[in-house]
Amino acid sequence: MVQMHVVDVVRNTGGMETEDMQSAQEGVPAHVDELLQQLDHSRGTTLVPPGTVILAATPIGNTADASARLFALLERADIVAAEDTRRLYDLANRLGAHVSGKVIAYHDHNERNKADGLLDEVAQGASVLVVSDAGMPTINDPGLAIVRRAIERGIPVTCAPGPSAVLDALALSGLPTDRFCYEGFLPRKHAERMQRLRALRAEQRTMVFYETLHRIADSMDDLLAVFGPGRPMALCRELTKDYEEIRRGGIGKIRQSVIDDPPRGELVLVIGGADNETAAREDPNVLGVDELAVLSMKRSQSQGARIKDSIAQIVAEHPLPDGSFANRKEIYAAVLALRDGTR
Ligand code: SAM
Repeated sequence: MVQMHVVDVVRNTGGMETEDMQSAQEGVPAHVDELLQQLDHSRGTTLVPPGTVILAATPIGNTADASARLFALLERADIVAAEDTRRLYDLANRLGAHVSGKVIAYHDHNERNKADGLLDEVAQGASVLVVSDAGMPTINDPGLAIVRRAIERGIPVTCAPGPSAVLDALALSGLPTDRFCYEGFLPRKHAERMQRLRALRAEQRTMVFYETLHRIADSMDDLLAVFGPGRPMALCRELTKDYEEIRRGGIGKIRQSVIDDPPRGELVLVIGGADNETAAREDPNVLGVDELAVLSMKRSQSQGARIKDSIAQIVAEHPLPDGSFANRKEIYAAVLALRDGTR
């Protein structure tokens, strides 16, 4: 309900025209203020809790994704700690929000030094809003330092969640969403990037990476080298914006599309996880049937135990990548074959 009103008024994306901005500025406050008052009273929740650090997500492209709670926080927080103050005011303008609190720059380079000073204010009862340029604070953006210090000092910290490119891309990728991992940006240098990717060869969860335009071609080469052409993926660009585009297919196909039609704008890569067979093959810690058979024979000899009991022990000690266990009958057959010399 709340967002519908904001959406009604603020239709445009990051590149809002001046005329639209004016109409948004004229139209939003009355609507939203009324709405916020209703929310304040009807739900029993406090939109801007005093004596609290509040992280808030901001739109990643489409201004209309701003929540009513973000609007209230911008207007009413005592202090706004923003990654870039100019971008903060730009967002507030587009939303027609009046930032009444003190605004401070809070970015990667000063967040550790500034966290305690801000928390001192929170301890005195101030509400401190933390926002980054786009999306969720702390997700490849500032915010984590103050969360950690707040936890250490026993100071309340909460979040007004909202847009983040990770979940947007994952949901649109069409790849499994039940288990996924977020890998942030890949390293800049080829050797380090390959090392990071090699470590993910046996990863079975869907993997989400942020990527930049000038590295996408090199990264696609490396993804191809490590995961092969058939591994499914999605290249998601300009999410929530007018030129949003999702390219889906095998890594080989997407790499070719990056060569033929280089993508522009902001990018997220979503890569399907390894299937069981690939994971077992690629995981250096996973032992094959013969290796498990040899270990079982050694255990049986050293402990004077029955071979079946030793197999059960060894199998339990070496789970497969998906958490299941190797087939004991197969290992027993391998033990017999090794003993007979037929293996
Ligand atoms: N905190 C942000 C979030 O929650 O998504 C991420 C900030 S990180 C510094 C910026 C990166 O996020 C971009 O380089 C891109 O990989 C990704 N990103 C942000 N907005 C995006 C969008 N609209 N479309 C695609 N990717 C986006």
